[in-house]
Amino acid sequence: MQSAVRLNFLAFFLPLLLPFSACSLDVPAPAPPDAKQVYATAETDPVRSRDDAADDPAIWINAQNPQASLVIGTDKQSGIEVYDLQGNRVQFIAAGLTNNVDLRPFPAGSQWSALAAASNRSANTISLFVVDSRGSLTWLRDSEIATGMVEVYGLCMFQNDAGMQVFVNGTDGSYQQWGLTMVPSGLSDEPVQFQAELLREFSVPSQPEGCVADDTQERLFLGVEEEGIRTLSARHDASTAMQSVMDIDGTILFADVEGMSLYESGDGGYLVVSSQGNYSYAVYDRLPPFAYRGSFVVVDRGDEQVDGTEETDGLTVTSVNLGADYPDGLVVIQDGANHLPRKNQNFKYVSWREIATALDL
Ligand code: CA
Ligand code: CA
Ligand code: CA
Ligand code: CA
Repeated sequence: MQSAVRLNFLAFFLPLLLPFSACSLDVPAPAPPDAKQVYATAETDPVRSRDDAADDPAIWINAQNPQASLVIGTDKQSGIEVYDLQGNRVQFIAAGLTNNVDLRPFPAGSQWSALAAASNRSANTISLFVVDSRGSLTWLRDSEIATGMVEVYGLCMFQNDAGMQVFVNGTDGSYQQWGLTMVPSGLSDEPVQFQAELLREFSVPSQPEGCVADDTQERLFLGVEEEGIRTLSARHDASTAMQSVMDIDGTILFADVEGMSLYESGDGGYLVVSSQGNYSYAVYDRLPPFAYRGSFVVVDRGDEQVDGTEETDGLTVTSVNLGADYPDGLVVIQDGANHLPRKNQNFKYVSWREIATALDL
């Protein structure tokens, strides 16, 4: 009886107290009943900024030495952080309010290894960063892309026969698709410059954030935070008609739908999506009809070293063999509550093999 009274008391007052306690989490909805538990193998250093700061990761593959690949993560209050596969911070760029980040490699033989892009709320721009052969990033301030959006939010990259492209969305539901062309750096003292051309615009009815493009299938997946997962052609000259992958159902997907990424395996593979409201991750087939393959949660390992993940914003996946710890690839997941002990937010590394085994993929 006493505990019931206490629960009622908490149920009444907790929602009132939470907004005043910056580090508290929202009370999660229950995870899907069949969600499988996995552990993180490693975690990154905490981001510089306090409170809600870490947001979205991307993985740079070191083609010469995959074990020396790096993770790029946003601190949405400070800039871009880069970590090695042990989680040590190896670079920080004070680029401002960078929210989402993505990356695409250049073809072999290029002067640069990859191009990274980030949505930047400091001036509602897209910031570009070239990555050299050792994984060092250079911010191209002279190539900043002004979106004209009231508030830039989600971002993902795409590459097809029309070249390197960026999708960016605003909190108002508007999307822009930009084509990027490398140009001689001219008067700039930066090593390279990019010209951006607006290729296409479309919109969704309410706030979106997470997105991922499938380059070979030329398909864009996007998350409308309180509605569900949608997909459409990623080609700038194609129809913007959308199809639903899954609506928020209150069991598998709880608002917000957040980060999403692809595990690419030949022509097949999986789409992994953060169901932020119940601290879980839903896995779907990469190809239509996008069958649901199961959900997982990342729980505390119990050795007081690496904690589980809660209230995740962004995540990213690679199927590349990154060495003994990640032989079938790596999932990097933003952790909304980095504890054991409590520190600033960070990113967790989960071996794909654990997930594939748990979900029988
Ligand atoms: Ca969001
Ligand atoms: Ca955690
Ligand atoms: Ca976010
Ligand atoms: Ca921790």
